[in-house]
Amino acid sequence: MAELKLVNIDKIYDNGFEAVHKFNLDIKNNEFIIFVGPSGCGKSTTLRMIAGLEEITKGELYIDGKLVNNLSPNERGIAMVFQSYALYPTMTVYDNLAFGLRLKGFDEDEIEERVNEVSKILGLEKYLQRKPKNLSGGQRQRVALGRSLIRHTKVFLMDEPLSNLDAIQRVNMRSEIIKIHRRVGATTIYVTHDQVEAMTMADRIVVMKDGYIQQVGTPKELYFKPYNLFVAGFIGDPPMNFFNGKIDGENFVTEDGYVFKLSGYDKEHLSRIAEHEHVVMGFRPEDCSTEFLSVPAIKENMIVEINEMLGDTLNIYGDIGCNKMVVRTNPFTKFELDKEFHFEVAYEHLHFFDKDTTNRIY
Ligand code: ATP
Repeated sequence: MAELKLVNIDKIYDNGFEAVHKFNLDIKNNEFIIFVGPSGCGKSTTLRMIAGLEEITKGELYIDGKLVNNLSPNERGIAMVFQSYALYPTMTVYDNLAFGLRLKGFDEDEIEERVNEVSKILGLEKYLQRKPKNLSGGQRQRVALGRSLIRHTKVFLMDEPLSNLDAIQRVNMRSEIIKIHRRVGATTIYVTHDQVEAMTMADRIVVMKDGYIQQVGTPKELYFKPYNLFVAGFIGDPPMNFFNGKIDGENFVTEDGYVFKLSGYDKEHLSRIAEHEHVVMGFRPEDCSTEFLSVPAIKENMIVEINEMLGDTLNIYGDIGCNKMVVRTNPFTKFELDKEFHFEVAYEHLHFFDKDTTNRIY
């Protein structure tokens, strides 16, 4: 059992740099939480404050209702897995796994029992007598995970644990970590800059930018209802198409004068959007249909510029007015370069943001 509560946490480094601002978050028991955001947004700093490796400048951190700001990393009941595996190269896998328990004075029978338990969970039974240099990257990462699991802690912290692995190993380890999490059931906080990793692994995601939380939500909430332009652009690949403009009557008119007709769009919503002087309309490349839609939709033509064939999908890039955009579609879609390409986007897939505050309107 471990619930975490972060209340108004700030981090100001000794040089005066403010890395994290007013971080508030309740983490439920057994939750798999992912901190995601671009480099330098404060993810690792926050994780390290939770671990006790970095002082909390302001605010409170509670684990199971107990204030732990002044507790050492050991006293917090937390295990951390780093990007670098930090394995002892001269020790066997067995000894690497056993090391922490030996330091704590566990007897060898108990250690053997726990090593067997974690090596079974992680599929390391065959490698216990090997040294780290004779293991693959994925196997080393599993040993690193094992060193945390063996401690039977309530909270796991993982800082970009998969970034040293190649693409295939990463995908495999993602699902392994999730399976282990289900089996072991500890509260886990995982840091990554990779939105796909975040979307595929997390119960809830915390999106960060410049030290501020942008949104906390399930992968679905972030995808379907991004709170602001940053989250809308960060989640999704290729990113959401954006158009700057404003509502004029029943139209959305871009800054360069291109008109998207919104007749039939919910009148009340439209007038709410119209209250904002500078509006950004967005829709996802994958929400562009190349077939006729029977639901209310914008029906547009773009001029095709380039295309990207990915095998299972086709990205078609083009211009609409003076705006660049991309449609994500199936690989058999017919198109011609420099010609018009028709697509439709159901109104329900349109997103509207205030350009000045960057916040979502609808
Ligand atoms: P990355 O994905 O690159 O690891 P991050 O989101 O984890 O990035 P942090 O490592 O938390 O970011 O760093 C947040 C900000 O704090 C960065 O601008 C970084 O340069 C700064 N920072 C980190 N450590 C220190 C330090 N010891 N002293 C001063 N500034 C620091």
